[in-house]
This record gives sequence, C-alpha cells and structure tokens, in this order.
Amino acid sequence: MNIHEYQAKELFRRYGIPVPAGRMVEHVDAAAEVIGELGLPLVVKAQIHAGGRGKGGGVRLARSAAEASQHVRDILGMTLVTAQTGPGGRVVRKILLEEGVAVARELYLSLAVDRKNAAVAVIVSESGGMNIEELAAARPDAVVRLLVNPLLGLKNHHLLQALAALDLEAAAAREFGGLLRACYRLFVEQDCSLVEINPLVVTGDGGLLALDAKIAFDDNGLFRHPELAGLRDEGEESPLEVEAAKFGLNYISLDGTIGNMVNGAGLAMATMDIIQQAGAAPANFLDVGGGASATMVENGLRIILSDPRVEGILINIFGGILRCDVLAEGVVEAARKVGLPVPVVVRMEGTNVEAGRKILADSGLDLVAAVDLADAAAKVAAIAAAGKEGS
Ligand code: GDP
Ligand code: MN
Repeated sequence: MNIHEYQAKELFRRYGIPVPAGRMVEHVDAAAEVIGELGLPLVVKAQIHAGGRGKGGGVRLARSAAEASQHVRDILGMTLVTAQTGPGGRVVRKILLEEGVAVARELYLSLAVDRKNAAVAVIVSESGGMNIEELAAARPDAVVRLLVNPLLGLKNHHLLQALAALDLEAAAAREFGGLLRACYRLFVEQDCSLVEINPLVVTGDGGLLALDAKIAFDDNGLFRHPELAGLRDEGEESPLEVEAAKFGLNYISLDGTIGNMVNGAGLAMATMDIIQQAGAAPANFLDVGGGASATMVENGLRIILSDPRVEGILINIFGGILRCDVLAEGVVEAARKVGLPVPVVVRMEGTNVEAGRKILADSGLDLVAAVDLADAAAKVAAIAAAGKEGS
C-alpha cells in the first residue's frame, strides 16, 4: 500500500525524522488560512501516489501569498503527468503547503526490501534530487547500497559507510546517525517495503531535513497495523483492483487487451505467458483462488468486463477443489447478468469436466471451447488479431 507524502511526513515526525512545517489541504478556501500561517516563501506540492512531480510541474515555489494562491488554484484539479503516472496522468485532489527551505545540498536516502539477499537495503547518494534515476544509470558508483541483515539490525559500520558516501559536515554528520536509525526503526516497525527521502537536504544552516517522503507498506504485513488502514486513499488506486479486493479476488490490471480468469497464481502466470506467446497481451492478472465459488467467478468476470480495453477473455481453470460444473454455472450466470460483449474462450480440465462442458454447450451463450492450452492460445491470438484489424 502506498501513501501520500503528507502522510509519510506525519509518520516521519512521530519517529523524530525532521520535516518542514506544512499542512495538507483539499480546497482553495482552506489554503488561504494555511498560507498565512506558514509564512513565505512556501512550496505548493501536488499529492499523488507517483513521483517525478517536480519535473511535471506539481511542485512550485511561491514568494508571495498571491503567487501561492495562484499555484494552489493551478495545481488542485489539474491532471499531473509525470514519468511515473503514465501518459494518462493523475488528477490532483490534495496538495501539501509547506514552508520553503533554503537548500545547500540535496542527498538521497532510501530503505527497501532486498529480496534476493534477504536484507534491508540502505541506499544513499550524495547527489540526490530529481535526477537520481539518471544518475544511477549513468554513474552507478555514485549510489551506494548497503545491506542490513534484519536479524542483526542496523550497525555502526553501516552508518560509517553511509557517512563516507555522503561527505557531510560535522553537524549534519552527527544528525545523520539518529536520522538513519529512526528510518530503520520506522521501516521495521511498520512493515514497510520502501522508505525513501529524495531529497534529504542539508539546509542553509547546516541541518538535515527530509524535503520529500515516500513510504510503501508491505500488504502482507497490514493486518498487524489496523491503524494504517485509515491512510489508504482508494482514489489513488486502480478502481477495478479496489473492487476486486472487496470480493477477495487477486486482481492486478495490466496494459493488454486479453482478459483472463484463472484459478491458482502459478496457472495464472503460465496463462499470461501463453497469451504473450500467442502474440497478444494480458489485460490483467486474476487468480480466483483454488476454492472459488460461482459468485466469485461471476464477480471476476464482471470486473474483467468493466475494463474497456478488454477485447477477449480466456478462462483457464483446472477443476480441483473448484469443480468444473460449478465454474461453468458461474460463467453462465455471470454472462446472463452482465452480457458478453466480447468473445470468451474457455479451457477447463479436471473434476466434473464433462458436466461443465455440457452446461456451457447447453447455455446457448457464445462461448468458445478450447481443448487444451495450445488450442486456447491459438483461439485467443485470433481474437487479438481481429481486434488489431478492427482498430
Ligand atoms: P518529486 O519530484 O515528486 O520527487 O517531488 P519533491 O518533493 O522531491 O520536489 C521536487 C524538487 O523540488 C526537490 O527535489 C527540490 O529540489 C525542490 N524543492 C521542494 N521543496 C523545496 C524547498 O522548500 N526549497 C527548495 N529550494 N527546493 C524545494
Ligand atoms: Mn522527490
């Protein structure tokens, strides 16, 4: 789960990580009061779950109250397109008004899960800021990656290595130890998958300040933190994913045109591969789970069909716990309720497969039966090819 910068900064405050004074507002009217409180200069920052806002015009400095109000009016409601939003951009519904800070240096600090090494990676660079991705690509040595064994925790040698990379003056160096420890404590205690400060700045008077803040939580750890649920902003999440989560479906929307519904994550991955191999692209990942009911199948199909990009659907089910006749009933029921505006290829195998095939055949619905995976792939490819001709 991702959260907004202003929420991440509130957590930073609780952990003693220094951040600029600021307040989030959702309306132009509320902004005027906050502008008065904060003083000048101030920074107007779009709050969306994507980075690269600075380059996209979503972070603006104001030297007067009038200028600040103008920025608020410009940014609230704008569709902000950044390198991370995709071409469609994101509508800005919240902004963070923050005191402007005199910046002497911009550093980079992040903590992330390093799965390969089963470690917490602490990543630092003395050249933080808006070009960190380009820097990491062009000069990988300018970005230092330290591995912390989570069973042993953060040690002084990590701190010394980080300090060696950052080249800080004495005052900032002293502060950095406490700051890194606080970040590590936050990362572990809140089950984060990412804590990123870019830029971490050395201010005009030599102190350290987290000018930006990004936190992502590991969804598998969220049950341990019920208080974090209130930080979720569903407006920033894919509406179909939010809907699917309500029904306990593992759904992730992708960019392709072939919807697919599968039981079991492994089979779902294999099915997406088959769709790719056949020259088409999957519109989603959807695992209805081993013990799916007819209702879940129906909800799954409805969610796939609400994606306007979907030109065809492949249902690939191995009937183990979920029997093929139950699946078939679910598909028929769903198709009757929501209608089938696109071709649907069904491949199923397993328990009660004959009964399942009969239900599909007798339904009178326009379902394409596939005998095996290769056959299913070929039929899906034909649908995708027809889609390309049509568009
Ligand atoms: P991002 O582009 O989405 O990562 O948004 P950031 O919060 O990192 O802001 C973009 C850039 O704006 C930062 O890298 C800073 O260079 C600049 N910036 C943000 N706040 C201030 C501020 O208070 N003072 C100064 N001088 N620059 C700021
Ligand atoms: Mn940033």
